[in-house]
Parts: sequence; structure tokens; C-alpha cells
Amino acid sequence: ASFEEMGIKDDLLRGIYQYGFEKPSAIQQRAVTPIIQGRDVIAQAQSGTGKTSMIALTVCQVVDTSVREVQVLILSPTRELASQTEKVILAIGDFINIQAHACIGGKSVGEDIRKLEYGVHVVSGTPGRVCDMIKRRTLRTRAIKMLVLDESDEMLSRGFKDQIYDVYRYLPPDLQVVLISATLPHEILEMTNKFMTDPVRILV
Ligand code: AMP
Repeated sequence: ASFEEMGIKDDLLRGIYQYGFEKPSAIQQRAVTPIIQGRDVIAQAQSGTGKTSMIALTVCQVVDTSVREVQVLILSPTRELASQTEKVILAIGDFINIQAHACIGGKSVGEDIRKLEYGVHVVSGTPGRVCDMIKRRTLRTRAIKMLVLDESDEMLSRGFKDQIYDVYRYLPPDLQVVLISATLPHEILEMTNKFMTDPVRILV
């Protein structure tokens, strides 16, 4: 299927084409439709498959930009990946006026507070900083409808398991969860059982 056939909104299609994509990659072919239909999705995929762009375009599709509250939370294992995801969202979402912010360690908390108070639709961050911002009530969770766990196996090997479970406890009950991981060890399957309902499984 083409991006048009996936039902992606016109202003987002413009952003995708401006960014230089003509047709969806294999993971985008299989994951975009269930995600924008609201299903929980487990995608077993490595970096370089188009997974970051897949996250960016589904996030841009589901956010209602007329509501200035955080609607999507993306957790990544590293500051670099969290920032990269924020950048791709801002680039692809150029024509939909999406506001995204990277909540990562090593940057000033003051900047996070300013940005979050101004109002953003999407937060892309590392588990430690995001958890901190939620507990300070700087990051409001009530409008969050989608949680994306990127490179989940990597987050667990970096010791973020407790922080991910902590963040999850603050999120609304009818949450959509998208989990991406190169491998699916026991601890990841435990997370999918706890966080997800009838997930679609995709192996790229
Ligand atoms: P990602 O895994 O999303 O970081 O993508 C890996 C590389 O493939 C990046 O350079 C992307 O810009 C590129 N890419 C992702 N999706 C597509 C697509 N549908 N068409 C062309 N290039 C893509």
C-alpha cells in the first residue's frame, strides 16, 4: 500500500513527501495501519528499518493538534535516540504544526518546564527524566493516549525497567501501547502482558 492508501491526513502526506519518502518501508507497510487504527502493536525490528520514521508518522497521525496537551509519550534508551525521534516528528509534522519536546537527562530542567508549560503534543524522552518530570507534575499525563516503547530490550539492559513500570502507573487506563524491540526476551514478554491488550505482532 502507498502512504495515501493508509489513510494518512493530507498535511501529513505533504510532510512525508517533503522529507523525501516516496513509499513505505517494510515495517511501515505492516505497522502503520494497525497503529493508526488504535491497536496495541509489538514490532520486532532493528534500527535502520524505518522504525523511527514509522513512530514519527503514526504519532503525527494520531495527535489532535487543536488540543495543547501531551497526547503521546515515547520512551527511548538513549538521549540521542530520543532527540532523533523528536527531530523526525518535527520534520514530518512540519505542515500540521505539531509541538514536540525531548525530555532527556543532561539538559536543563528549566527548559523542560518552560516547554511543557507552553504546551506540547508529544514528549520523546529517556525513562529517568520522564519519570522525574511526571513526579514533579510538570509533565501532565491525563491526555496521554499512546505510549511508545522504542528499543525496549535496550532500555531493559540499561536498567530502566523500574522506571518504565513507574511511568506506566501514571498513565490513563485506556492507553494504546506500541512496543518496538530487536529481541523479545522473557522480561519484554512480561511487559507486553502487563501493558498490552490483544497486541498485533509484527516481525520485520
Ligand atoms: P529509521 O529506522 O526510521 O531511522 O530509518 C533508517 C533510514 O531509512 C533513515 O535514513 C530514514 O530517513 C530512511 N527511511 C525510513 N523510512 C523510509 C521510507 N519510507 N522511504 C525512504 N527512506 C526511508
